Amino acid sequence: MKDAMEDCSETIGRHRLETCRRALEKNHFEVYLAAHCAEAREITLDKILPGLGAKSVSWGDSLTLYATGVLDALKEKTGLHVIETFSESLPREKILARRREALGVDLFLAGTNAVTETGKLVNLDMVGNRVSAITFGPKYVVLFIGRNKIVSSVAEGMQRIRNVAAPLNAMRHHHLQIPCQETSRCTDCDSPDRICNTWCITEKSHPGGRIKVVLINSDEGL
Ligand code: SF4
Repeated sequence: MKDAMEDCSETIGRHRLETCRRALEKNHFEVYLAAHCAEAREITLDKILPGLGAKSVSWGDSLTLYATGVLDALKEKTGLHVIETFSESLPREKILARRREALGVDLFLAGTNAVTETGKLVNLDMVGNRVSAITFGPKYVVLFIGRNKIVSSVAEGMQRIRNVAAPLNAMRHHHLQIPCQETSRCTDCDSPDRICNTWCITEKSHPGGRIKVVLINSDEGL
């Protein structure tokens, strides 16, 4: 049974997501609201995918996307060419070749580091394959965003990404050597392993509806 605090968080989350939804739609994004990850999966499979006619799919690294279970469902679909770009058993060159190929898919799935109440997406990439695909290449993009990613402005989003999301993300990647894994704070490092290399601010979806956003009323991802 849900306690009173959870009820309050849900209500506040719903209001903030509604604000985001209106702003994103004004910026030509196609927006869906989901109460939780399972509903985000249903919306994607039942409402979004049938109209796209996608024959190929790939994705950017996203804990929120993984939590929805959408990828597992897509991998089971026949007739869909799935380009996996994160397999640890593949050599680096092969991974990079696949990431280039993934820029030409029909459908690209990912998360977003922050979304503003004014309807802008804020992302920061290490390699750039995710922000490239969000910007141009795949015919359609679907982004999964938890309520904890909502910020009031691009500046607040950049601050949150640098000092919260990026250090947490750095800690997931044990093979990298970067100072924020130890300090939990960004020191604007010069490490060759630095994961913060390209900022991308998406102000509007062009063409309208190319980028679809599923806003989820739960805290997801980093
Ligand atoms: S710039 Fe370097 S220290 Fe700062 S968050 Fe990114 S990887 Fe960590």
